[in-house]
Amino acid sequence: MRTVPTTIAFVLAGGLALSEAAGAVPVEPELVGVVTPEFDPSVPCLTAGEEEAILARLAARKAELAARGVLLSPDAASAPLEFGWPLRLHPVIDDPGYHCVRSYRDHDPTPGFRLDWHCGQRTYDSHHGIDYFIWPFAWLRMEQDQVEVVAAAAGQIIAKVDGNDDHNCVMDGSPWNAVYIQHADGGQAWYGHLKNGSTTTKPEGAMVARGERLGIVGSSGSSTGPHLHFQVFDGNSQLVDPYSGSCNFEPTWWLDQRPYDDSAVNAIRTHDTPAVFPGCPGTEIPNERNAFLPGSTIYFAAYYRDQLSGQVGQYGVYDAAGDPVFQWSHSSPQPYYAAALWYWRIDAPQSGAAFGTWRFEVTFEGVTTTHHFWVGSLVDAPDEFVSITRPRIAVLGANPRSAAAGPVDFIADLPSSGVGRLTVVDVRGRTMASFGDVWRPAGRHVFRWEASGAPAGVYFARWMTPGPSGAEPVTAKAVLTP
Ligand SMILES: [Zn+2]
Repeated sequence: MRTVPTTIAFVLAGGLALSEAAGAVPVEPELVGVVTPEFDPSVPCLTAGEEEAILARLAARKAELAARGVLLSPDAASAPLEFGWPLRLHPVIDDPGYHCVRSYRDHDPTPGFRLDWHCGQRTYDSHHGIDYFIWPFAWLRMEQDQVEVVAAAAGQIIAKVDGNDDHNCVMDGSPWNAVYIQHADGGQAWYGHLKNGSTTTKPEGAMVARGERLGIVGSSGSSTGPHLHFQVFDGNSQLVDPYSGSCNFEPTWWLDQRPYDDSAVNAIRTHDTPAVFPGCPGTEIPNERNAFLPGSTIYFAAYYRDQLSGQVGQYGVYDAAGDPVFQWSHSSPQPYYAAALWYWRIDAPQSGAAFGTWRFEVTFEGVTTTHHFWVGSLVDAPDEFVSITRPRIAVLGANPRSAAAGPVDFIADLPSSGVGRLTVVDVRGRTMASFGDVWRPAGRHVFRWEASGAPAGVYFARWMTPGPSGAEPVTAKAVLTP
């Protein structure tokens, strides 16, 4: 399977329904755009030849295990398998969702035609597995080991493959990292495209339980983004589609089969700049921020899966007193998005709202998702809102202030450890002070600029890191008065 680079379509702000609460600032949220990772259903992630080669290799491995006397013999009388969900989000991350289905098994044997278990088209020609993509921030989640692949059913590891590159963007037939499990009935489950170095430490021949970690979702093999290819065979070596539906009359293999239209909000976020989705294999730059000054521009983002036209999302932004500051609703004009990000730009009020912990809420298909953030003095922002994915620079204390009032302290909240530099420049770009390229741990750092003697004017503190390329410098503005 193949994805083409993310496209961004800009949409006019028209058509928004905005209900203003009494006292709310009369600014209509501006819909900035929609981001949808697109899907080209023309290229398989496992060709027929590759599948045959894997089957031959698995047969050889089974023969080796049998020769060592450790291969479990199939039990024709074993109970039908009941699959659990093959993915698991790291428990410290509380997003309500993190995946989307991009391709089911193809049930139409005619070349050029496709049909999924629900008689829809969410598959591609000759696809024998199911592709579960990660959404949003698939590359970032891969780097951070956020989404595990777990065994859908208990069984024996008959083979595992690791050591292959996991940043693939093309369908070049390169080998993937995978774990192959044989079930009690003699059938198999294939878990493919895993992250390099992530496969279970258990050896071939070992048993795994349902829900046991097998690896991390990656993009090894013929792949253009981190996803799991999950492929199942029964005890007679016949391909199985575990989903039961009007174009696959077999009983479901799932303990709890998810609906075809599994429409939901996967995540909501606040950003100071829209998230950046570079082309494959660039790691996404979320530009998340959870602490804002009054009057700041805030981007409110909702990340959906299986979004259908006509489904209405109800949005609300509530201040520290619980009063609505903005409320609006939105539905997608497109018939179907496997995955979509919609985001709005709002300028937080300077006054007239209760500052402190605010709430961003989206209600969609009967489920309400809540995200808390801070609007107010940044120095007072609780730590939970400061743990962000992007450095934050601010002026400590009064600003503007008298040039004679003594040194200016800049605080830098660093989301991760690393090398960086804080430079203070004047409006003509001349360096006034520089705090060198040394390694610093994550957390809050204070940089003192001895500003005495500096003329009145506007100064900028810039935080710069050597990478990643394309990262914008983060700045804070200090104003010195005579
Ligand atoms: Zn696939």
